[in-house]
Amino acid sequence: MKKVTKILCLVLAILMLTSMLVACSSSGSKTEKKTITMATNAYFPPYEYYEGTEIVGIDVDIMAAVCKHMGCEFKIEDMEFDAIINAVDSGKADVGMSGMTVTEERKENVDFSIPYTKSKQVIVVPVGSTIAGPDDLDAKKIGVQLGTTADLYLTWDKEDGIYSEATDIQQYNTFVEAIEALLQGKLDAVVVDQEPGKVFVEKNEGLMLLETEYIEEEYAICIKKGNTELLNAVNAALEELKANGELQKIIDKWIPAA
Ligand code: GLN
Repeated sequence: MKKVTKILCLVLAILMLTSMLVACSSSGSKTEKKTITMATNAYFPPYEYYEGTEIVGIDVDIMAAVCKHMGCEFKIEDMEFDAIINAVDSGKADVGMSGMTVTEERKENVDFSIPYTKSKQVIVVPVGSTIAGPDDLDAKKIGVQLGTTADLYLTWDKEDGIYSEATDIQQYNTFVEAIEALLQGKLDAVVVDQEPGKVFVEKNEGLMLLETEYIEEEYAICIKKGNTELLNAVNAALEELKANGELQKIIDKWIPAA
């Protein structure tokens, strides 16, 4: 064989081998479990937060149960809440799970699983505050986490004139930072999801949660638009966890009945 032919043969052989390997890994061998990447923002107790260096919470437990059902494994990528949808849309993460509310706007960029729980927005204020409900937020300094429904709803209400121009909506990277600012007297109120709100009030003296709720919502897992295979698998798993009571058990473990 000529030298050129030899080289050509070698190149062809390498090419064939790599394509075989690629085909194998993408179809997933039986022994090797597929690993799903879950994008989250781990500053949202009791759904996801750091316990030491480990991220724990309701969403983590539900994802573990979903993956067990699907026969896969998962790893968590902690990022800013505002970056989750983009991470899922770009394929950087397979799923987004972060106490994420299903909204029409988000549905334009990602698909959502069936909801796994309900929630509400609540108002956290310092003890003794004159704020007693959403109407009193007008012209106040209100902290939210950037890109959350609290941020969106307040901004829209201000745009719609429900709140006057003097209403100052301060966006923080995490709710934890918004609560710190509230404790330091830099804010009049923080609008946040109910369960994280409860945890923040329990953990910090001098804060209280207003019973009046701002709005009701549903949480779901977001998945890249058009990835129906993964969406169907996640939905089937969630249906099963709802039917066999496992989902409720996980929620009850983290949110003791009042
Ligand atoms: N449920 C809210 C939202 O989806 C907040 C979620 C969060 O901060 N992790 O915008």
